Amino acid sequence: AKKGKTPEEVVKKYLQKVRNPPDEDCTICMECLSTPSGYKYPHPMIRPDLVGRLCKCGHVFHLYCLVAMYNNGNKDGSLQCPTCKTIYGVKTGNQPPGKMEYHVIPHSLPGHPDCKTIRIIYSIPPGVQGPEHPNPGKSFTSRGFPRHCYLPDNEKGRQVLKLLLVAWERRLIFAVGTSSTTGESDTIIWNEVHHKTEFGSNLTGHGFPDPKYLDNVLAELAAQGITEESLQE
Ligand code: NAD
Ligand code: ZN
Ligand code: ZN
Repeated sequence: AKKGKTPEEVVKKYLQKVRNPPDEDCTICMECLSTPSGYKYPHPMIRPDLVGRLCKCGHVFHLYCLVAMYNNGNKDGSLQCPTCKTIYGVKTGNQPPGKMEYHVIPHSLPGHPDCKTIRIIYSIPPGVQGPEHPNPGKSFTSRGFPRHCYLPDNEKGRQVLKLLLVAWERRLIFAVGTSSTTGESDTIIWNEVHHKTEFGSNLTGHGFPDPKYLDNVLAELAAQGITEESLQE
């Protein structure tokens, strides 16, 4: 967390000023960029007509709208373009405290007959939601933990493991929300990075063989801002 930086300062760090706003709509508030932000909750410190261009992707929004979006998130000093998902800063999530462990087991996964298997074990106990969660102060449940997941113990599988460890540190593997499988709210759910939870078969669709799995999960990690480069940071 970037202590001391106001939401406006965080957002401005990633923006270039646009003096003559284009005759296009801001996709956050749906108002034209050449007119003031249509965002409903007035913020006394920011002029609603200021417009900025995100410095890497070039998408243009009302400053006011980006600050409002930032304030709706977990305010970790990072920003994600709502149009193209380009990440500014280091994205983190709201995964509650817990444990990630892994070890090699001497068995092969279907589709990976030539190597052993990495088993990851995630454990997260139930708890109380913090300010970064959907219902602060309310408890959240924890179903089906410890959750066991599998990767082939080959070069690419070990690379995925390293990146998953970064995702865990950044609190991006799980989230608190509503389970799409059970419909239960205020519970721990998988976030945007798919895991294989079935070992010897594929009855759930979350098993092996799946020749595209490692590439898919690398793409999902990249969409969270986690790539080879993250390992050097
Ligand atoms: P979810 O249902 O909201 O789904 C979020 C993402 O996780 C989706 O992308 C989905 O494809 C993926 N996903 C769903 N089931 C998965 C599985 N078995 N293995 C790997 N990925 C899966 O998220 P959720 O509620 O965290 O996931 C539901 C799964 O969690 C259940 O299938 C079960 O394995 C486990 N669970 C167990 C209990 C229990 O009491 N034993 C209760 C709830 C959930
Ligand atoms: Zn706007
Ligand atoms: Zn963009």
